[in-house]
Amino acid sequence: MQLRRAAVLGGGPGGLYAARLLKLANPACEVRVYEQGDPGSTFGFGVGLAAGTQRKLAAADPDTLRELVGAGLRHDMTLQVGTDIVRVHNDRLIGVARTELLAVLQRHAEKAGVELEYGARRKAAGLDADLVVAADGIGSDTRENGPFGGRTDVGKGRYLWCGTDFPLEDAVFAPVGTEYGTFVTHAYPYSGGRSTFLIETDEETWRRAGFDVTTAESEAPGTPFAASDETSLRFLEKAFAGQLRGHSLIGNRTRWQRFRTVRCDRWSSGNTVLLGDSAHTAHFSIGSGTKLAMEDAIALVEALGEAGDLGAAFAQYEQVRRPAVERLQGLARRSQLWWESFPSRLGLPVERLMVAYMSRAGNVPLHRFVHTAPDVVETALQQYGGEPPSGELTGWVLGRPLVHGGRRFPDRTSVPALEKLFCALEDPWSAEGDTLVARAKTTDGVLISGPPDRGAVLTRLDLAERIRLETGVLTAVEAAAELRDDLADALVSGRTDLVVRTEEAA
Ligand SMILES: Cc1cc2nc3c(=O)[nH]c(=O)nc-3n(C[C@H](O)[C@H](O)[C@H](O)COP(=O)(O)OP(=O)(O)OC[C@H]3O[C@@H](n4cnc5c(N)ncnc54)[C@H](O)[C@@H]3O)c2cc1C
Repeated sequence: MQLRRAAVLGGGPGGLYAARLLKLANPACEVRVYEQGDPGSTFGFGVGLAAGTQRKLAAADPDTLRELVGAGLRHDMTLQVGTDIVRVHNDRLIGVARTELLAVLQRHAEKAGVELEYGARRKAAGLDADLVVAADGIGSDTRENGPFGGRTDVGKGRYLWCGTDFPLEDAVFAPVGTEYGTFVTHAYPYSGGRSTFLIETDEETWRRAGFDVTTAESEAPGTPFAASDETSLRFLEKAFAGQLRGHSLIGNRTRWQRFRTVRCDRWSSGNTVLLGDSAHTAHFSIGSGTKLAMEDAIALVEALGEAGDLGAAFAQYEQVRRPAVERLQGLARRSQLWWESFPSRLGLPVERLMVAYMSRAGNVPLHRFVHTAPDVVETALQQYGGEPPSGELTGWVLGRPLVHGGRRFPDRTSVPALEKLFCALEDPWSAEGDTLVARAKTTDGVLISGPPDRGAVLTRLDLAERIRLETGVLTAVEAAAELRDDLADALVSGRTDLVVRTEEAA
């Protein structure tokens, strides 16, 4: 398709990358990016780019990737609970400063011949072009005021995004108990000798600490746009002194927020197409916002090159990207719920907690994780089974005996008669989840059944975990035999005590 003029609204990673790829594929087309901010004045700290994204960028644009990898920092990952630390080698993830990422993308866009216009807020509808790419971020005006069927779900937890001026050795996940409750950091080093420090907590802890008040103050009219919630930063600096080793927390428009997951019924209308955060977001704990935006750019430009007109190109773009985006949003939702309930799991030894973390969204099974971190998995299995693992992993996990409340079970599939609970919930921590937990509390054990699909099984395993942790009653979860690996992951992760494979239930 011949494009004469293309306008890109938003100079974030999605917009800049789309503009460069568009210009490279259509040298005769005038491509212009409209960004409200100034070059170099971005918010945020580092972002992570995983191996899969690096492969896709390598195929689409090796020059840009080479510079990004050069600017990035590789790191392993650790989970720290008190003085217990577990480390997992992961040199395929790089952390890049958002400023550096944008500087590289700006340079490469200009090198390709894209014109960049900074400093004025624009409207998609006011841009004179054959094609308008609306990469205007999570708060997209284009989406909010257009016929895209946009919806936003707001998470329960509170988080703030800050940084520190030294490079951590590894990415660090660490909970810290305070007089108000638990705060958890997700911190990772990035280029330029700095680290991102994202800190989250639950609503009650946030209120007890008085951060509802500091949040209201930091959002009051007249507060400078770039101001941070300094009271929270100073408190958290003390709480995370062990991880910060005497360094300060640095804010940059740092305020408590609740994560917003954006979904849209359609991503295009007329000559305008949404891309990146304007079309969809996925919880930060799976580190995929930049990845999704840049992969959208690749797919959009490919579709524009292959289709005969804009309508067909937009349809192809959405057809290619929507399944991948929705899959990631599904994983991100599980991950979000896991992190929002994280403090309840701190009774697990740190190696088992690491297995629980890896399997939280159902996409890194134990039998795969064992190849990445054999020592961690071996220790977790010993903690779970009381002896070194042997033979086929899943069979071994299911075959371990259990003593619960004075009752002895020869293995994890020998389930006594228990009160039946049917679970068809979306969110085990919802009000309906509360009702099921209250019912379980009146029993001396529950067998949780529900719809047969894998998603529903993973959700009832999460409900079982909540029941175990909050009531202490024996839990068993029913699932199809072909999901035995998921059941084994759940047993080692402390999500359930026993399991019933459906043939056995009959
Ligand atoms: C706490 C947190 C942690 C994160 N961690 C990671 C991570 O580890 N890895 C990762 O990949 N992603 C991460 N992300 C997500 C990532 O920052 C975004 O998903 C990503 O930047 C999306 O790119 P984008 O180009 O779609 O939007 P944005 O980067 O938001 O860019 C949109 C741009 O549009 C401009 N704009 C908006 N409206 C207008 C207008 N009307 N006129 C002109 N300009 C306009 C804005 O100024 C902005 O520059 C994180 C996000 C959060 C909140």
